[in-house]
Amino acid sequence: MAKLQLTDVHHVYPNGHRGLRDINLSVEPGEFITLVGPSGSGKTTLLRTIAGFLQPSHGMVDIGGTRVADDKSWVGPERRDLGMVFQEHAVWPHLTVFQNVAYPLQRKRVAKTAMTRQVADVLEEVGLSEHAQQKPAALSGGQRQRVALARAIVSKPQALLLDEALSALDEPLRARLRQQLRRLTQDEGLTTVHVTHDRTEALALADRVVVLNGGRIVQDAPPAEILANPANSFVAAFMSDAAVLQGSWAAGRFYPDNRNLHIADDAVVSHPEEQTSAVRCRTTVAPEDIRLETFRGNGPADRTVGTVTSVLAGRFGTEISVDWDGGTFAVYAPVGALVPKTSDRVVIHIDRMHVFEDSALTTHGAYA
Ligand code: ADP
Ligand code: MG
Repeated sequence: MAKLQLTDVHHVYPNGHRGLRDINLSVEPGEFITLVGPSGSGKTTLLRTIAGFLQPSHGMVDIGGTRVADDKSWVGPERRDLGMVFQEHAVWPHLTVFQNVAYPLQRKRVAKTAMTRQVADVLEEVGLSEHAQQKPAALSGGQRQRVALARAIVSKPQALLLDEALSALDEPLRARLRQQLRRLTQDEGLTTVHVTHDRTEALALADRVVVLNGGRIVQDAPPAEILANPANSFVAAFMSDAAVLQGSWAAGRFYPDNRNLHIADDAVVSHPEEQTSAVRCRTTVAPEDIRLETFRGNGPADRTVGTVTSVLAGRFGTEISVDWDGGTFAVYAPVGALVPKTSDRVVIHIDRMHVFEDSALTTHGAYA
């Protein structure tokens, strides 16, 4: 296990596409981080930069205190001593499970008895001992992915890099492998960087979640912090399904641009600093910070009333979508709470919202 450090890393692809900007990231020995963000946000580019398949256009990469990339030096991927697993299990079809997993040790010229023992140990750990002599074609997708994982960790790499390694698997297998991955990396004390576009997975697995957007790190924090204090409206919307409202902030109050929405005075508003003059801002409202009540009136709706557009029951509660004057608001009703039906009219109470200054945001939520 080793520390990973990226300092001021930028990456521009040969066609001029910007892959990464201003990346400063360190991963402590034994730490498990997830990289999460929408498609095209730079997750794979960042992982491949650590792995050594991409050379940064600018900046430095250190692995275990050794400089592996900067303006002058370059250490190739085969000499970085990293384990890697990708979405599509790249296991060799003509080799048995045992031979697949033994391959990195053979390359390192590990003696036969030690090799046999190490392979047997890791196969035991991923639950594939009985399949050692089978070819990958005889295995399920989940088993093949465990072969790839075993091969990635058998030679005790400096760090484990996973790019959407679980994304192709179906539930409940995926959930099981997720738990196994976490336990395995903990037992081995492996430094791990796990790329996923699945925010639930990112939050569930990580010591720290690194959120990417437009090639930049927009937040780097423990899961609970990401949820409680999103760094900006993009993080709140992407990680928590928060609704985003444009408006202005003045004298401790939020005024939505849409005057058809009425937000009660008692909504708790978090704002980083007091403003003396009015500023443009965005507020985000997380699904758990909205309460719904049945609308009892029979006349025209007032400015607190929306219409339920969908109700999805889940194991941990119900996800409700409400249309409020053309905007969609996600609301979570916990198990046991009264749940409205589709088309019901409901009174919307916002308990809490976050205010973010608007200036740096483009309309895509990316940072200019
Ligand atoms: P993610 O893994 O988060 O989906 P990527 O790291 O693959 O995102 O891509 C980040 C950005 O770099 C995107 O804008 C993408 O179009 C661009 N990109 C990725 N690979 C290449 C490439 N080989 N050539 C040019 N641009 C690329
Ligand atoms: Mg990718």
